[in-house]
Amino acid sequence: MIWFVITAAILAIVTVFCLVRAQRSDKEIAPIVAQILFWLLIPLVSNTVLALSNNPDVCRFCYTVYFISTTFMLFYFAQFAVKFCNYDKQLPLIRKIMAGVVALDVINLILNYGLHHVFQLSVVDGAVTFESLWYHKIHLVLSFLLFGVSLGAFIIKCIRTSKLYRDKYIVILFASVVTSAWELFHVFTNENVDQAIVGFSICGIFIYLYSLEYVPSVLMDEMKKTVLATVSDGILFFDENRECIYANSAAKLMLGMGINETANGFEKLLSLTGEDREESAHYESKSLTCTKIEDGEEYIYDVELHKLHDLQGKRIGSFAKITDNTERTKRENLNRYLATHDKLTGIYNTDRLYDSIREVLQNNPDKEFYVVASDIKEFKLVNDRYGREFADKLLIRIANLLKDKAASSTTRYGRIGSDKFGCLIEKSVFSEDTFISAMKEVPNIDRNLVIPIIMHVGAYEVEDKNMPVSAMFDRAFIAIAGVKHEAEAKVAYYEDDSRDALLWDQKVTEQLDNAILTGQIVPYLQAQVSREGKVVGAEVLVRWIHPEEGFMPPGRFLSVLEKNGMIGKIDQYIWECACRILRRWSYEGRDDLYLSVNISPKDFYMMDVPSIIIALADKYELDRKRLRLEITETIMMDDIDEKLKTIDRLREAGFIVEMDDFGSGYSSLNMLKDMPVDVLKLDMIFLNDTAHNERTKKIMSLIIDLAKSLDVPVIAEGVETVEQVDFLAKMGCDFFQGYYFARPVSLDEYEKKNLAAS
Ligand code: C2E
Ligand code: CA
Ligand code: CA
Repeated sequence: MIWFVITAAILAIVTVFCLVRAQRSDKEIAPIVAQILFWLLIPLVSNTVLALSNNPDVCRFCYTVYFISTTFMLFYFAQFAVKFCNYDKQLPLIRKIMAGVVALDVINLILNYGLHHVFQLSVVDGAVTFESLWYHKIHLVLSFLLFGVSLGAFIIKCIRTSKLYRDKYIVILFASVVTSAWELFHVFTNENVDQAIVGFSICGIFIYLYSLEYVPSVLMDEMKKTVLATVSDGILFFDENRECIYANSAAKLMLGMGINETANGFEKLLSLTGEDREESAHYESKSLTCTKIEDGEEYIYDVELHKLHDLQGKRIGSFAKITDNTERTKRENLNRYLATHDKLTGIYNTDRLYDSIREVLQNNPDKEFYVVASDIKEFKLVNDRYGREFADKLLIRIANLLKDKAASSTTRYGRIGSDKFGCLIEKSVFSEDTFISAMKEVPNIDRNLVIPIIMHVGAYEVEDKNMPVSAMFDRAFIAIAGVKHEAEAKVAYYEDDSRDALLWDQKVTEQLDNAILTGQIVPYLQAQVSREGKVVGAEVLVRWIHPEEGFMPPGRFLSVLEKNGMIGKIDQYIWECACRILRRWSYEGRDDLYLSVNISPKDFYMMDVPSIIIALADKYELDRKRLRLEITETIMMDDIDEKLKTIDRLREAGFIVEMDDFGSGYSSLNMLKDMPVDVLKLDMIFLNDTAHNERTKKIMSLIIDLAKSLDVPVIAEGVETVEQVDFLAKMGCDFFQGYYFARPVSLDEYEKKNLAAS
């Protein structure tokens, strides 16, 4: 008996230790384990007391407590088994049934004090003997049933689970089976003290160990192996002599090792990293990127090498990790390409172009550069007329031309807008001719189709290399803006005043409407006189009296308005002013004076000039002869038939049409024959020349003679001296206009001078 007491005491101490640890554990199953251990302690203690005591009352209490606590212990053991074996789903139901059984059993065991239906104690030879009654049998059956639940759960789990895990279930199952056999033995031998409780305690300790402490080392090993085998990185382990002791399949594949080869792992790794054995011994860890070419394919690997040490710092080996970055690198390269290149043409996009230009400028502080931009005139029309696909082809063609011509290492080019391209070129290799010939090549998309597009190029010579690249291109585009109306491919250069000119253009364009409305645009009149010195009429010349700029002659703003197509507005306004003046003069009885107005060649493109002028003359009820119309010969540059018809319409309507600036540019004597005009205005250029040039005089004389023969009167412009008046008169000139007689003056002044006098 003494050995039982000692064993029980030791087991009790161990159980208490396990109980404390179980209570501290944060595992989910720990509270159930703690319950088992707690309810195990009580039968251990009560059986020890039973072994030592001969007092029937004490023994009765100990038996009762022992039976109740084993019932609870088995109750929790069953719950543990179900949970530990992962049959949680069934747990609530099983727990309810079991709780009912336990409650009934406990009540019966307590009632034994009054009913004496569980057991009886008698004292024989001073020793207490135990007699089992009918309910004790039932209690035993219930206990074995509870126990059976646990065994069942463990048996099923052992059959189903992986070999790796089976250990922990088998140990508990085995201990439980042995204990139950022991308990059966006790039941049949009817010993006073239940020595099987020792088995239960050992079972409890196993339960604690396997559920809360134990992680099978085989499981860890297996897991490590499986993880290493399945990761996509290559992993190699080397011992202290750098013999390869493990290489996973990824590593073998990357290093070209056979599937069963391991020993040559280190040599294979060195051939990838390009190191020699000696070199690789000298560092603790290292990362490097390696490339391998195999069957024409390039592979990119990141290799990490680490030496391994034990806790004392002694080297136990090393390991290498190889990551295949081929795909990632390709993807990154592709993304980088897409982010920096234009999708359509494949050349640099704006951001990349600007960055690369910045780099070149920074790296070449001693060199001189041009920033060059190109723009297609009315690209939108190309899109509309030929379709998007064709327009795309055109842009690709420009990109390819840029590629072909960019010979220098410092040249950078890219696409910086829908139809705009840009490049940086060293001044020493920049050639205007190359650009012009390239621009002329662009429209020849194929042999059968040459489309009428015009490209302009603007160049800015980089003076301040620190200026933002975008500002450099702004300047190149300003240069283009200055020539964008020109019909021929051209390289325009940025000059500081290009910018001012552009700003001026914008200002004039924006302010014109308001200037007309507020009376800033006014007609000035310059008298025209006859050979006898009599004022016969006047030319109406526009002036802009600007609130900030002051008095502006037409030279400052008309070219802008001709460029942007607004010339018609100002002309119509001046024509109407002229009509209004004539109307008033008519009321005042001055029907003898005419006014001649200028019609810009551009007006004929924008509007139906005859209809407008006829409508104006009608509105003011004018004698149409009193409104003279000055047309320059430049209108005859194209659509000659159309223009001739227009002039005819005006003349047939009763207006006098004068040919202005005759002799200034394109004039030929032939033209005079063809052009149906009423008056010829000799350009002042002749007069500037005549002082020194007899030849010019002869030409003038010829023109005047020719006009005479056609019955066309001649008026000379720009007459400044009496000598000029004399020789012009001698040649047969009929009328004069010029500073010699009068400068252009305001209406008021003109009227004061000419109307009052007569
Ligand atoms: P234009 O039609 O040849 O007009 C004659 C120009 O010669 C005027 O310049 C006039 O002031 C100037 N002039 C007259 N006599 C002399 C002289 O003895 N010596 C010199 N050196 N110059 C003289 P302005 O007024 O500056 O006009 C310049 C041009 O602007 C005009 O040349 C005409 O082509 C255009 N223009 C003026 N007003 C209008 C207008 O209302 N509509 C249109 N479309 N053009 C106009
Ligand atoms: Ca004129
Ligand atoms: Ca003129």
